[in-house]
Amino acid sequence: MLKLVENATKNLNNQAIISDGKSFSYQALLDNSNTVATYLLQDATDLNEQRVAFMVAPGFDYVKVQWGIWRAGGIAVPLCITYPLPSLQYVIEDTAASIVIAGEEYATILAPLAAEKGFRFIILSDIPTQASEEKVLPELNSERRAMILYTSGTTNLPKGVVTTHSNIEAQVSTLVESWQWSAQDHILCVLPLHHVHGIINVISCALWSGATVEFLSSFSAEGVFAAFQQGKINVFMAVPTIYFKLIAYWESLPTAEQEVLTVTLSKFRLMVSGSAALPVSVMEKWKHISTHTLLERYGMTEIGMGISNPYDGERKAGYIGKPLAGVQARLVDENNQEVAVGQPGEIQIKGKNVFLEYWNKPEATQKTFTEDGWFKTGDIAVVEEGYYRILGRDSIDIIKSGGYKISALEIEEVLRTHPHINDCSVIGIPNEEWGELVAGVLIVNHPEIDLKELNTWIREKMPAYKAPRKYIIANELPRNAMGKVTKNDLKKLF
Ligand code: ATP
Ligand code: MG
Repeated sequence: MLKLVENATKNLNNQAIISDGKSFSYQALLDNSNTVATYLLQDATDLNEQRVAFMVAPGFDYVKVQWGIWRAGGIAVPLCITYPLPSLQYVIEDTAASIVIAGEEYATILAPLAAEKGFRFIILSDIPTQASEEKVLPELNSERRAMILYTSGTTNLPKGVVTTHSNIEAQVSTLVESWQWSAQDHILCVLPLHHVHGIINVISCALWSGATVEFLSSFSAEGVFAAFQQGKINVFMAVPTIYFKLIAYWESLPTAEQEVLTVTLSKFRLMVSGSAALPVSVMEKWKHISTHTLLERYGMTEIGMGISNPYDGERKAGYIGKPLAGVQARLVDENNQEVAVGQPGEIQIKGKNVFLEYWNKPEATQKTFTEDGWFKTGDIAVVEEGYYRILGRDSIDIIKSGGYKISALEIEEVLRTHPHINDCSVIGIPNEEWGELVAGVLIVNHPEIDLKELNTWIREKMPAYKAPRKYIIANELPRNAMGKVTKNDLKKLF
């Protein structure tokens, strides 16, 4: 039996999910996912790894559909609910989904595609709430393919990442243990559910543990704080941009309200940040607001979570921590040789958590593993006093200029400490003489920021070769659905 399902049978009466003001027990989740599985199977006994794409808003229905697909033996392919048609079509065609399930609100956008492609198109309300027959669900080997998630598309076109049930179970069980999840936990989910962060770290860890997941129908800082004020939520996980928004909202409140929120937040058990580098300034401000030191961790669609600051022990600002239990990590040079301690290298990962393959891309799969089975992340890091520090992605954050390798993330960290800079992004732009030139895009809070002065200021803080040579002031940074800055778009500005 799937481990998530098996665990649920031990917590039948616990509250599993709260969404749209309704509460659902683990019993209800098991019953409803069984009904979905039965409906998907029709006359078959096993979906045998057929891809089932689904576009359902975060909430009870999302989870019952996801579990229903798994229990019927299918591969779950979650669709991003904010994607325009071409992006949805890309995923549906790339996975050759034979079944597509849509919430009512998404039926219109997908209907033309259904007519053209001829897959079985199911509107959520078509699925009966009770199965008409008792069906025996297939017995699933844990090495079966379970899910295809697309990478965020930060560096290139998104790739379909295939994980098996055993990969997912390894990803979840490691986190449950390391971050000490229990049935008493209650997490607020504000993340999109087509990506590991929301699917693995938030909902699967909680449901594995017999805990409660509460969904917000749409994100607003005010809504998040209102949910916190109800006093039940004790775990929260988000991307840095969300913390950024929560901080801005908190700062706009009168002192008395700020104090009330701080008291509520101080009672939380755990608050986590990840998916992109957490600026030290955000970590410090959040500590002031909540009394918590955010736990920053590093993960990828391909590996789930790999490296994490400790639950107990020092959480270091600017660092992602140490390899999680069961995850092997190493830093290597261009020849896959381990680098000396303190030297930068590419993070490579091994473990049961690591994905099986890129969907339909055998060449890309082959290229991304070393001969002895290490997964090449493409992220560059250094280890300092046992803690990993990310320097950035080899392809976009490591700027190669005049023979130097410069970390964009380090420069961004410094720029953010300037009183007139709210946020920024640093990139390399092609240059004949230097290879690449360091350039910064700034979001400023002062209309008359003096770039000459900024130049002097930054050269007091870092060697001249790292200082940006060009600046552009922008109103906002382009970001993808995961809140990550899409630096390839920024390069076009120069
Ligand atoms: P694509 O692979 O399509 O370019 P992507 O790599 O952004 O997109 P994801 O799998 O969502 O897709 O993101 C994983 C990446 O996010 C990591 O490789 C790393 O670069 C970045 N990342 C995750 N956590 C952190 C962190 N704590 N600090 C810095 N970077 C992080
Ligand atoms: Mg990637």
